[in-house]
Amino acid sequence: MLDQSAIDTLRSAAIPDQGHVIDGRTEAAQTGETLDVVSPIDGRRLCSIAAGSAADMERAISSARAAFEDGRWSKTAPVHRKKVLHKLAGLIERDALALTVLGVRDNGTEINMAYKAEALSAAATFRYYAELVDKVYGEIAPTGSNVLGLVHRAPVGVVGAIVPWNFPLMIGAWKIAPALAAGNAVVLKPAETASLSLLRIAELALEAGVPEGIFNVVTGTGVAAGEALALSMEVDVLAFTGSGATGRRLLTYSAQSNLKRCYLELGGKSPNIVFNDAPDLAEAAKVSAAGIFRNSGQVCVAGSRLLVQEDIHDDFVSEICKHAEAFRVGDPLDLSSQIGAVHSLPQLEADLRFVATAEEEGADRRTGGARILQETGGYYMQPTVMTSVRPTDTLATKEVFGPVLAVTPFRDEEDAIRLANGTEFGLAAGLWTQNLGRAHRMISAIRAGVVHVNTYGGADLTVPLGGVKQSGNGHDKSLHALDKYHDLKTAWIQL
Ligand code: NAD
Repeated sequence: MLDQSAIDTLRSAAIPDQGHVIDGRTEAAQTGETLDVVSPIDGRRLCSIAAGSAADMERAISSARAAFEDGRWSKTAPVHRKKVLHKLAGLIERDALALTVLGVRDNGTEINMAYKAEALSAAATFRYYAELVDKVYGEIAPTGSNVLGLVHRAPVGVVGAIVPWNFPLMIGAWKIAPALAAGNAVVLKPAETASLSLLRIAELALEAGVPEGIFNVVTGTGVAAGEALALSMEVDVLAFTGSGATGRRLLTYSAQSNLKRCYLELGGKSPNIVFNDAPDLAEAAKVSAAGIFRNSGQVCVAGSRLLVQEDIHDDFVSEICKHAEAFRVGDPLDLSSQIGAVHSLPQLEADLRFVATAEEEGADRRTGGARILQETGGYYMQPTVMTSVRPTDTLATKEVFGPVLAVTPFRDEEDAIRLANGTEFGLAAGLWTQNLGRAHRMISAIRAGVVHVNTYGGADLTVPLGGVKQSGNGHDKSLHALDKYHDLKTAWIQL
């Protein structure tokens, strides 16, 4: 149970200006330049971070390369890495509230959600991969008896990780934990607008015993710092979560440099399909509303396209609107808020433009659509429901990444599948029906990384998260994520 007075004490703590964490030390940018960190809660400056340049990134990458090559981490027994990563998880748990409040001040996610989805989830992720790493075996190939074929799993070397602002700790841990568990060195570039909690994780990693140079964090913009990481000849694997536009650039940088493997976790426009035989339409409306509006819609798997069977459309939309209007939007550090701030002013302006465009294209605004609480100086928006959205409209095809739901009716199963698959994305989907046969037909017909049935958005570490089509190609979480950070090496031994 979180305590409001403890949160209030932490919320007013001064945050010192931050440097990179390179080779176990905190360093200012070589140019001396900084970026201001502005809180979406009230639009006020929190502190500065180092504005990393290519020179800073190169220093971090060389430190990671040297640390990897000398074996201070890569050649340790898996059981040692397991111990250190468990210790790191324990330190994250120890500091969970402070980390959460720091992150919320930086990115605006409502604290109840952030506590679980950020700090606790990051700790659980470090524990999961700590536990895994001494249970993964190589292989003996089924060769003829005159040969021994061994398949070794080797760490890849230097992993570059680039992450977005919407769940920096959770998504960061999804990459850092398996990469470190596998014995690699990591250079992380957080989003320039959500770096603070990840910088703190780098300090905790040192405290836990991750050797200097094995986990480095370089802050700064994508163009200045991120690009240098992606173009480096010394980075072996790039693990990215973010927008499709950036993902495309990273593939180009890989092609222009050393052909490093790029794992891309990108955006979505995920369909949430409600049939008239859903087991509990009231529950479906409640969960569907949470599935788009929690964290102001800034969730990669948000169910942002609601497809409702024609004969229940009007009643279901009324229910969704009731839930949208009932959400308490406000200060994300107030335990009674259910939805916090939109992450930044440009993001809020983009969200509002999507609503205006949808109206110009003929959609009906059923509720929401406006900025609120402007007097706080923060960036808040009403949960918004738009109906009569046609499948080719902007709102049906482009990711908003904000609290805006596009509703479109459908006739039957075939129509639902056509609409569901009618975008360039394939990240997530939802499906509400009591018909088991239909559920299985739909699961196989919908092109998405995850299909939720009679729920929306549930998951844990045991299952992979990743998209198909232009939602990307990599998978975070589960046993499968470890494969991204290993190379397979064959030994063919003539006996
Ligand atoms: P973004 O692509 O703008 O930025 C993501 C990261 O890439 C940031 O750290 C940024 O600094 C960096 N970057 C930007 N330009 C770069 C460049 N030229 N070279 C190297 N790095 C660069 O995305 P965002 O706005 O931070 O995040 C929102 C997006 O992330 C949405 O599309 C959302 O759907 C997606 N997302 C996907 C998942 C998933 O698991 N599939 C999870 C969360 C978010």
